[in-house]
Amino acid sequence: MNCPYCGSNDSRVMDSREVNEGIRRRRQCLDCESRFTTYERIQPVSLFVIKKDSRREVFDRQKVLDGIRKACEKRPLPADTVDRLADDVEAEVYGMGRAEISSRVVGDMVMRRLKELDHIAYIRFASVYREFADITALKEEVDTLLDSEAQVTTPAAQLPLLPDEELEVVVGKRGRRRK
Ligand SMILES: [Zn+2]
Repeated sequence: MNCPYCGSNDSRVMDSREVNEGIRRRRQCLDCESRFTTYERIQPVSLFVIKKDSRREVFDRQKVLDGIRKACEKRPLPADTVDRLADDVEAEVYGMGRAEISSRVVGDMVMRRLKELDHIAYIRFASVYREFADITALKEEVDTLLDSEAQVTTPAAQLPLLPDEELEVVVGKRGRRRK
C-alpha cells in the first residue's frame, strides 16, 4: 500500500470503520505524514456508470475525485475534505449494490454533499455537471440556493463575475447570519 503522495509503503492505520460491506481505513504515511484512505471490500462484478449518451464505463473513484477537486479549488476547506467526500460518494455508490448506475445519480450524490459544504464549489460543480445550457438555468440554481438561506437578494446572475474575495464576503456573511 503505497502513499499516494510520496510513494512510501510505510503507513499506520489511524481509524478504521465498517462502511456498507467494506472496511474503510484512514492511514497516515510514516514518511511524509500525509493522510489517505483505503478500502477493503468484496469487489462486486464491475460497476458501470451509464453516461448521458448511453455509453457505459467502469466506475472510477479518481474521476469523481478530480471533479470534486476542481470544484473545490482555492476554497477554504480542510485539506482532506475532498478525499473524504469522494470516499463517501464511492461508499454510497457501492452501497447501492447495483451493477449499473446513472452518471446523473453519481453527480447528484456529489452535489448533495457540496451543497452542504460550500456553495461556490457546489455551483461550480453543478455548472459543469448539469451543463447549464445558458445563464438563466445557472441563475435559477443560484437563486434557489440563495432563497433557501437568505431573504436578502443579490443579483445572482452577477455572482460569477465577482472576484473570488467578494464572492466569499457575500457568501460568508450569509453563512454566518444563518447560524
Ligand atoms: Zn508519504
